[in-house]
Amino acid sequence: MAKIIDGKSIADEIYRELRKEVSTLKDKPGLAVVLVGDDPASIVYVRNKERACKRLGLNYKLLKFPQSISRDELLSSIRTLNEDREINGIIVQMPLPKHLDAFDVVSNIDPLKDVDGLHPDNLGRLSSGKPRIIPCTPLGIIELLKRENIDIRGKNAVIVGRSNLVGKPLFHLLLSLDATVTVCHSKTIDLKRETSRADILVCAVGVPRLITVDMVKEGAIVIDVGINKVEDKLVGDVDFERVKEIATFITPVPGGVGPMTVAMLMKNVITAYRLQKGKV
Ligand code: NAD
Repeated sequence: MAKIIDGKSIADEIYRELRKEVSTLKDKPGLAVVLVGDDPASIVYVRNKERACKRLGLNYKLLKFPQSISRDELLSSIRTLNEDREINGIIVQMPLPKHLDAFDVVSNIDPLKDVDGLHPDNLGRLSSGKPRIIPCTPLGIIELLKRENIDIRGKNAVIVGRSNLVGKPLFHLLLSLDATVTVCHSKTIDLKRETSRADILVCAVGVPRLITVDMVKEGAIVIDVGINKVEDKLVGDVDFERVKEIATFITPVPGGVGPMTVAMLMKNVITAYRLQKGKV
């Protein structure tokens, strides 16, 4: 029977540490969130970020724009935030409407304020082994493994999902920590063959119960990133009830990776503040 990794209590511990750190800073770091349109899930995510800022006493600013905003208008508001000395972190909430290209928009954020770690400059540094600001969810996953004293070196790590947000940056992080890393995706021919070899299995796809117990090696560490709504309940990508019987560690959904993502965002805002003050 696996140990269930309590992401919420680990995130709470991180908030306590961050609160102490914030109290030593000369001024309050600030986060700006840019929200385009009214996607219900985005509104929930944005609210969670606001709550986390309040919890740490960080400044928070929400810029809301209609779905129809033009590229020029959006980029001009990002430029204003880039220049705003009270704002240390900028996030553009995804997904964006079809007429706006996420890569283009994120590339216009000052890389030192890119607290999602998705600017090509930050992603390039990560892939070169010289990370500066690291995407929040992969950073949170590594933090969970570290705080559970899970040794990564030499392990077979298998990531299912190759998004820029989770799978790809996590690949670089696990590689830099000396795991042997495999990345699977929708075109992987035999997913079970790959996942069955995993000492550390991370699933970030968005398909409920994609990972069944027969796909998991006995004793594996299973990190479930997926968030899916099934009959009004949140579930991950892993068949939690059955897989927890054979794994050594497993994260639940909700209460696993999710709370860590927001905690790591707060950490990134403080990192960005320090970078801008030249103190990292
Ligand atoms: P995405 O939606 O951009 O991409 C999904 C990935 O899964 C793709 O790389 C695709 O190739 C792969 N995939 C699709 N079907 C597959 C299949 N049958 N077998 C193997 N691979 C398959 O990914 P994302 O933005 O990383 O999100 C993935 C999931 O993680 C979603 O459920 C999302 O809500 C969740 N998520 C959670 C957090 C968190 O904080 N807990 C953060 C980010 C994303």
